[in-house]
Amino acid sequence: MKLSRFARVIVDRAIQRELDYAIPEVLADRVSIGSRVRVPFRDRSALATVVALVDETSASGIREIEAVIGEGPTLSPTLLELARWISTYYCCPIETVMRSLLPQVIRRAQVGWKKQQFVQVSSSVSADTLATIRRRAPRQAELLDELSKLATPAPVAEILARLSLNSSTLRALVRRGFAKLHEAAVPRDPHGDEQFVTSPELTLNEEQYAALAKIVSAITSPEKAKPILLQGVTGSGKTEIYLQSIRETLARGRTAIVLVPEISLTPQTVERFKSRFAESQDSVAVLHSHLSEGERHDEWHKVHSGRARIVIGARSAVFAPLKNLGLIVVDEEHETSYKQEEAPRYHARDVAVVRAKLEKCVVLLGSATPSLESYHNTLTAKYELATLTQRVDNCQMPRIRIIDLRQEKRSDRAGTILSEKLRTATAERLEKHEQTILFLNRRGFSTSLVCSNCGRARDCPNCSVALTFHRSILRLSCHLCGHSAAVPKKCPECGEDALIYSGFGTEKVEATVGHVFPKAVVKRMDADSMTRKEAYRETLRAFRAGKIDILVGTQMIAKGLHFPNVTLVGIINADLALHLPDFRAGERTFQLLTQVAGRAGRGETPGEVLVQSYTPFSPSIQFARHHDFAGYVEQELEFRERCDFPPFKHAVLITVRSVHEARGKFSAETLTRRLREALPEEFTVSDATPAPLEKLHGQFRFHILLRGSAILRLSRLIREVLDKLPLPEDVTAAVDVDPYQLL
Ligand code: ADP
Ligand code: ZN
Repeated sequence: MKLSRFARVIVDRAIQRELDYAIPEVLADRVSIGSRVRVPFRDRSALATVVALVDETSASGIREIEAVIGEGPTLSPTLLELARWISTYYCCPIETVMRSLLPQVIRRAQVGWKKQQFVQVSSSVSADTLATIRRRAPRQAELLDELSKLATPAPVAEILARLSLNSSTLRALVRRGFAKLHEAAVPRDPHGDEQFVTSPELTLNEEQYAALAKIVSAITSPEKAKPILLQGVTGSGKTEIYLQSIRETLARGRTAIVLVPEISLTPQTVERFKSRFAESQDSVAVLHSHLSEGERHDEWHKVHSGRARIVIGARSAVFAPLKNLGLIVVDEEHETSYKQEEAPRYHARDVAVVRAKLEKCVVLLGSATPSLESYHNTLTAKYELATLTQRVDNCQMPRIRIIDLRQEKRSDRAGTILSEKLRTATAERLEKHEQTILFLNRRGFSTSLVCSNCGRARDCPNCSVALTFHRSILRLSCHLCGHSAAVPKKCPECGEDALIYSGFGTEKVEATVGHVFPKAVVKRMDADSMTRKEAYRETLRAFRAGKIDILVGTQMIAKGLHFPNVTLVGIINADLALHLPDFRAGERTFQLLTQVAGRAGRGETPGEVLVQSYTPFSPSIQFARHHDFAGYVEQELEFRERCDFPPFKHAVLITVRSVHEARGKFSAETLTRRLREALPEEFTVSDATPAPLEKLHGQFRFHILLRGSAILRLSRLIREVLDKLPLPEDVTAAVDVDPYQLL
């Protein structure tokens, strides 16, 4: 094999350039594409990734690679290619992309394996020898006897503890040559202490069978396969199809990734996958944000070394270093949490589709309420569609009723939280010992503290939002930047003792419900009440066991949970998302209502959903009520096309930020002008406007919205304009391609 002399690397620093380094002879056979290396950079060392090997370089003053990190290449050529695509598409420096591609523990190589001392006998011990030793050193004999019975080397600490011996006994045996020690890595498996019982494959119903057939045909000839969108109502058995598709993939010697939103990566979900493939527990790796650094290190290596053949994880698991990838499943593909809200601002579903193309593998997107982007792709035949219209076991879809809050009598304080109808329905459930879920996508007790004299609200000093009152901690807090303040006795603006609380969040819903139903067990589940790692699990377990009558919560309870005894779901305020200045507001409301409604009636008893709203006739509420996805999509697509919004045009949002309002505004306007000069007619550039959320974390924000069809070209042109425009030091510009956050 011919060895190259130079390695081209991407240093983990924002320099937007690739650098060449010489490969010293001693490292020659260890440096390859995808290797992680340490190189001299400026006057110190830096870590870097090798992206190419070359024989010649035009650079001068070439320095040598200092060391190679880890064994074998860390990144495959395909993942490197994927990184380049993300960098171009999302208009983001490649170094930043690299940061997301590898977990920090692997990138920085700070955490290693957990090592343990193991002991075994040096050679078989005869009864005579043992007897001889026993006469002079009975404890050594006892230990040697025990060791000679072992089938595999045993951890030293464990065996000494078991026999109540100390290490000097062992040292003596080692010194005399009867036993030998070695060090080995022991895996930190986040699920190592759990036992999983193999769950049998279920017999599919006709619809499921037809869907699986499509997927299997794709798995059989992946090079011709299009991405498949599996649209199945909640409870239609999509997960069973994922499981069987994975089985088919493994049977062909290939591997699989399953992406789920972080929020639904519950123990319940993991267990379903772990138990289906329980015959080799090691084969399933789990990657999510709650792993310890050590666990993450070990799970990653389990994947990289090829021991794990299935990866289940949240967004960044799309980069799992599996070899011979055969299938990527994206569950709840419409979920906005797949979009990363910091650079690189990638969307894991879209990255999955691109990775699948590069790896020549199948990608399966599943949802009850597909995103308009994916659904539109089935209409234009870019994706293939498979549908499940029935719940398994013929469970009925829940009946959805809309409650017009405008009609509710205001005289009653509890009225806007619990309407008469919702109150009666909840009381009925309590009587029958059935469970109720109450949903409100807003935390806290009161959403603002307003002065009834001067009319001013207590706003966050850093952000343009009102502070939320949290009764449990008796403080005001900002949900955007975390700023926290004491509750003033009098209005700090006008000095009057006239402060009133208004608006409500989950904390107040919990209090009101507890007040109305004093005998019921009420529990709240949101980011405030679930701060302990175990709280989430415990609450779900108690709810499943029927120890909680009413569960109040935010979107944390909206996804993927099965509770057969829940027969009533109340949506306290369906309008929250609708009034956001975002073209996806309607889509989100429809998805949320449908998903939350899907929590009702998953058992024998049919479920009921009560939706409280001040705008009961808005299309997304009405279509959700009739479980009419097709109808909803038709009118929504018409609206999007009329306004040149996605999925018909791509959007790019540039946010210009500065602590100085005037400088931010000026830079945004200059940038807008430059963009208009540089971009051809086919792209539109909006005026620079103050963002709907004008101030955040103490910075003023301005938006420029661009639209066009040729997105790769648009991204490249934006990068060129930005590179040529020197921004003042205290001004930054962030580019978000296919944005989901328009605030
Ligand atoms: P979804 O992911 O579409 O919400 P699930 O896959 O979670 O639906 O299925 C809902 C329930 O139905 C699960 O308890 C699952 O085990 C069960 N189930 C799925 N498919 C079948 C089948 N073919 N026969 C019997 N039960 C099934
Ligand atoms: Zn704030």
